[in-house]
Amino acid sequence: MTKKVSPVAKFKSLRTPFYYYDADLLRATLQVVVEESSKYDYHIHYAVKANANPRILSIIHESGLGVDCVSGGEIEAALKAGFPASKIVFAGVGKADWEINLGLDNNIFCFNAESIPELEVINELALAKGKTAHVALRVNPEVDAHTHHHITTGTKENKFGINLDQLDKVLDQLENLKSLRLIGLHFHIGSQLTELEPFINLCKRAEELQEQLLKRNIHLENINFGGGLGIDYRHPDQHSIPDFKSYFETFHRYFKVLPGQQVHFEPGRSIVGQCGNLISKVLYLKEGSFKKFVVLDAGFTELLRPAMYDAYHQIENISSSEKTEVYDVVGPICESSDCFGKDRELPLTNRGDFVVLRSAGAYGESMASQYNCRQLPQSYFSDSLE
Ligand SMILES: *Cc1c(COP(=O)(O)O)cnc(C)c1O
Repeated sequence: MTKKVSPVAKFKSLRTPFYYYDADLLRATLQVVVEESSKYDYHIHYAVKANANPRILSIIHESGLGVDCVSGGEIEAALKAGFPASKIVFAGVGKADWEINLGLDNNIFCFNAESIPELEVINELALAKGKTAHVALRVNPEVDAHTHHHITTGTKENKFGINLDQLDKVLDQLENLKSLRLIGLHFHIGSQLTELEPFINLCKRAEELQEQLLKRNIHLENINFGGGLGIDYRHPDQHSIPDFKSYFETFHRYFKVLPGQQVHFEPGRSIVGQCGNLISKVLYLKEGSFKKFVVLDAGFTELLRPAMYDAYHQIENISSSEKTEVYDVVGPICESSDCFGKDRELPLTNRGDFVVLRSAGAYGESMASQYNCRQLPQSYFSDSLE
């Protein structure tokens, strides 16, 4: 175990399982994001759905970023954390009327809209308030993200976005919706992308679309490339901060910004993924017929990613340094999918040991549930845990 997760002594008095966040790493990551994106005047909106913990939001707010929200609840959480409405973008394939009204009442920067029926509803609600809503069209760029199919969003059969062959029709309809102002295009091709090539293809597609729209005399003030930059789940200590330098350089190199145009991004996982750890305790060692199981007090109610996406998380026993054994590491939930890792090498493990699931800062706490009447996990931060 590294210095990152602090001494076991600090954890002894705390009820497990809980989330433990490295505030220094989060701040260091934000510093790199700000430094690398400001070279090109890019605008960054943190994707709140990755982690909406109030303290996390407050640290991110201090760095000056905006936010990307996908629900009314997230807009409320962002406003509460102090983010100005002028830096809020609101995405999602199914925005409810109250959520649209919340956005309108607060004059958020932009609605990223995905269909004609949605545009009609935003128009109607804006008209009723005597307002003009700023909208960007979320276009499905039909770029393959080469990632897990559950987190691919940019291909044609996906529920997200307006398909390329329908864009002209949507633009025609938009001309009749007088309470809307088209301010840009929005893309998001998927999550946990580990290569830059799909982003290059996205840049090319955005330039093509830009040309196409200029022919209709539409000048796009904003281009939003969404999120998706992956993190290294296998080597959280070697690669604790993702390569934002190459990421933003790629967009700078392959997407030519038009005069007066603003470019936006919505990173989620890449900002918060590595700073979070799920801390649990070993309840039992169970010997199967041909396997040994480590049964933790944490389950998919605290960290859903392995059960939902077959996701890999590094698992470490921070209480033992004995020679290793091979175990399946499982949770207590009454579902077979409640398994964090198969055939993992851990030091000889005993009841009461602390076991850490690494790289759990994104889509961990924010996806926690109360299934089996379990309590939602507590969270602690490295800079405030004494
Ligand atoms: C989920 C999501 C993001 C963030 O994706 P990450 O892979 O966490 O960076 C950004 N934009 C939209 C529209 C999203 O749905």
